[in-house]
Amino acid sequence: MAFEGLADRLQNTMQKIRGKGKVTEADVKDMMREVRLALLEADVNFKVVKSFVKKVSERSVGQEVMKSLTPGQQVIKVVKEELTDLMGGEQSQIAVAKRPPTVIMMVGLQGAGKTTTTGKLANLLRKRYNRKPLLVAADIYRPAAIKQLETLGKQLNMPVFSLGDQVSPVEIAKQAIEKAKEDHHDYVLIDTAGRLHVDENLMGELKDIKELTNPDEIFLVVDAMTGQDAVNVAQSFNEQLGVTGVILTKLDGDTRGGAALSIRAVTEKPIKFAGMGEKLDALEPFHPERMASRILGMGDVLTLIEKAQTNVDEEKAKELEQKMRTMSFTFDDFLEQLGQVRSMGPLDEIIKMLPGANKIKGLSNVQVDEKQISHIEAIIQSMTSEEKQHPEIISSGRKKRIARGSGTSIQEVNRLLKQFEEMKKMMKQMSGMQQKGKKKGMPF
Ligand code: GDP
Repeated sequence: MAFEGLADRLQNTMQKIRGKGKVTEADVKDMMREVRLALLEADVNFKVVKSFVKKVSERSVGQEVMKSLTPGQQVIKVVKEELTDLMGGEQSQIAVAKRPPTVIMMVGLQGAGKTTTTGKLANLLRKRYNRKPLLVAADIYRPAAIKQLETLGKQLNMPVFSLGDQVSPVEIAKQAIEKAKEDHHDYVLIDTAGRLHVDENLMGELKDIKELTNPDEIFLVVDAMTGQDAVNVAQSFNEQLGVTGVILTKLDGDTRGGAALSIRAVTEKPIKFAGMGEKLDALEPFHPERMASRILGMGDVLTLIEKAQTNVDEEKAKELEQKMRTMSFTFDDFLEQLGQVRSMGPLDEIIKMLPGANKIKGLSNVQVDEKQISHIEAIIQSMTSEEKQHPEIISSGRKKRIARGSGTSIQEVNRLLKQFEEMKKMMKQMSGMQQKGKKKGMPF
């Protein structure tokens, strides 16, 4: 995961000061030396580091900490607040034009992930915000770019506007907006051309598109893995074109995090979204506070809940909850639930969002065995409908057949049956608790 080194170092430093009943200036100085090194090693811009260290030091030896009853914890609170502030403070919203469609220009260097991100953003706009975007293929230079966007459009079942590679990008953008109005699209996402480096021709063309379309947002897509280069690219695009926000891609990789922590401070433009993988649902709104929380090992439960809300069908969740309460939960329901949890993303990434997960022994490097989950799915799929509804009828003969059918062993079938029994027992207890007036929760 991104930030791993930084997170480890900062958390170790914080650990030392956490329980202190008294924090001296010398303590703060020691801590800040370590924080400074951790940030520099994470490739954070040195000017940004300097100003960050200064702010945290001043606040940490100030009244708010020294006078508090828990100075150690207070210092950590200061670090978290300043880290949040560094990344932009509040989460910034995406613009909505007074008269639709809202036009978004996607810009960036080749390979940053611009085309993929255009597809991901369209997907997010539809899924989470209920919008109807039109994708526009205006990168006429990279040979495969138009095709790539068309393929993404097909996967998403979304229209892509293209006029081939013989019409100028400005003309394409113009006609696309007309088309969007005709077909009542409320967002237009223009995938513009990239280059290997920032150059005059590129900027000239982007400025022309900007002038003609008067976009509500210009999102610069940068690759977080490129560290300080990403910051330089952002600065240069911003100076020449004036971007409204940045989308950081590849934050799922092992980037040290410098770009995420410096871009806002250097360009004064907010990071709006973060790309967390190659799949089309791997784009998250960027929340500075939640990111600071993740870096400091405090987890990110809110993102987890949102992931569940976006990916889990609410109606089905209610139905499942009802079944749990009435104890009619079957293997069919279990299978469906597994599928829903899986759709939230790789399980080890999900576990990392839990507070303190990296400090719990055995959880920090947990490799959730996706293969084992596939085995569970295969076992359930090898059961007859009757067996799924009434697992108590599964005799040893039936177990043998199920194991053979699913390519697993009798032991695995036994284990699953036992776990399912235990799960039902737990549900019974939980539903007892709920009937005593407890609030309803999600079914997992
Ligand atoms: P473009 O030249 O800027 O349009 O870049 P592409 O959209 O073609 O992306 C370049 C490569 O980066 C592709 O292989 C993408 O799958 C990959 N990519 C894009 N965003 C992400 C991300 O958030 N995480 C990861 N791991 N890969 C990404």
